[in-house]
Amino acid sequence: MIVKGSCHCGATRFELAVEPESVTECNCSICSKRGGLWAYYSPADVTFACDDAKATYRWGAEIGAHNFCARCGCTTYGEFPNFSSGEPDYDRPTLSINARLLDDYDIASIPVERIDGKNAW
Ligand SMILES: [Zn+2]
Repeated sequence: MIVKGSCHCGATRFELAVEPESVTECNCSICSKRGGLWAYYSPADVTFACDDAKATYRWGAEIGAHNFCARCGCTTYGEFPNFSSGEPDYDRPTLSINARLLDDYDIASIPVERIDGKNAW
């Protein structure tokens, strides 16, 4: 089932090809302040209908792009290299979609995985 999402003002709209199986809540310095619930996707499974007000915050080693809507301020999605090999693979990016933006979808119906980013990196 395709799942649609949007930021509050609609300048960011996207479709996910498959439903998230779970979402991740992280307590690292940025996730705890931004409040996103992350659903991880390969770019092939995410279609952006509109990404008109994309703004990007980078920090630290600037490996990841923390995107948000410059108009309404919603945390939208992150773009990170794949780390499954232990090294950043920029040819296989991963998108972390903020599942709080999903429309007509009950995120309370799927499990929340809590990761301890505060102490892991
Ligand atoms: Zn917006």
